[in-house]
Amino acid sequence: MTAATIDGKAFAQGLRERVAAAVPAFVAATGRAPGLAVVLVGEDPASQVYVRSKGKSTLEAGMASFEHRLPAETGEDELLAVVARLNADPAVDGILVQLPLPAQIDEAAVIAAIDPDKDVDGFHVINAGRLATGAPGFVPCTPLGCLMLLKDALGDLSGLEAVVVGRSNIVGKPMAQLLLAESCTVTVAHSRTRDLPAVVRRADIVVAAVGRPEMIRGDWLKPGAAVIDVGINRVPGSEPGKTRLVGDVAFAEAAAVAGHVTPVPGGVGPMTIACLLRNTLVAAHRRERLDAPAGL
Ligand code: NDP
Repeated sequence: MTAATIDGKAFAQGLRERVAAAVPAFVAATGRAPGLAVVLVGEDPASQVYVRSKGKSTLEAGMASFEHRLPAETGEDELLAVVARLNADPAVDGILVQLPLPAQIDEAAVIAAIDPDKDVDGFHVINAGRLATGAPGFVPCTPLGCLMLLKDALGDLSGLEAVVVGRSNIVGKPMAQLLLAESCTVTVAHSRTRDLPAVVRRADIVVAAVGRPEMIRGDWLKPGAAVIDVGINRVPGSEPGKTRLVGDVAFAEAAAVAGHVTPVPGGVGPMTIACLLRNTLVAAHRRERLDAPAGL
C-alpha cells in the first residue's frame, strides 16, 4: 500500500482564501477590518520569523495587523500593561503573545491576562475549559488544523480509534479533546506510556506531537491508518553543515503502510497560521455579534 499524502499546504491556502473572501462582508457590516495583534518580546530568531509571517498573512487576508515588538529585558508588568491595552482596544479582535517569553516573565500569568474572547491562540484556561466541556471558544491553531486535515481526508471520524502521542497543553491535550468531540475512542500516550508501538498499532488515527525525529516507525502503524505528523525537528542534512526538517514519524516507512500521511514540511505546519486567521475572523464576528461565515 502507498499512503495518500495529505497536502496541508494546499488545504491551508484554500482556508486562507475562504477567510479572505469573508473579510469584505465584515468590513461592509462594521466599517472596519478584523484585527490581529501579535506581541513579540526579545529577539529569538525563530519567533521573529513566525511573527513576520503572521503579520504578512494577516495583511494578505485583508485584515489589520498590529505588531508590538518589545525588548528582551521587558518586565512582566510592562507586558501585562500592553496586553491590557490590547484587551481594551476595539480595533483588536485577536491577541497573540509569541512564546517562549524571556525567563523573567511568567507565561501563564500573561496568557491568563488575555481576554478569553480575544485569545485566538486558544491557550487561556477558559478556552481549554470551554473545549473540554463542549462550549464555543477558541481552539489552539495547530490541533484545529490537524482536525481539519483529518476530516477532509476521512470524512466522519465517529467510532475510530485515535492515538495522540504527546500531552502538551498546546497540541496533545486539545487534539485529544477535539477527537473525543468527533466521537473517536481516544488514547493519549506520553513518555511514560508502556509499549508505545503496541498502543500506536491499535490506531485508525495517529497524531504525533512529540518532538523526536522520526520516532514513530512504519511497523508501529496499523495498515491503512491516517497519520498526522505535528513534529518539526531539525536534523543534520546529507551535506556537511546543512540541516533538514523531519517530523516525529519516519515518513517513507509510514507511507508504505498508512492510508494517509502528512509530510514534513508541507503538512500540519502551514495549517497553524491559516487557523490563526480563521480564529481571528471568528473572534471579530463574535465581538460584533455577527454570525461567523459558514465553511470555516
Ligand atoms: P512538548 O515538548 O511540550 O510535548 C512533547 C510531548 O511528547 C510530551 O507530552 C512528552 O511526554 C511526549 N514525549 C516525549 N518523549 C516521548 C517518548 N519517547 N515517547 C512518547 N512520548 C514522548 O512538545 P509540543 O507539544 O509543543 O510539540 C511537539 C512537536 O510538535 C514538536 O516537534 C514541535 O516543534 C511541533 N510543533 C509544531 C507546530 C506546528 O506545526 N505549527 C506547533 C507546535 C508544535 P511527557 O508529557 O511525559 O513529558
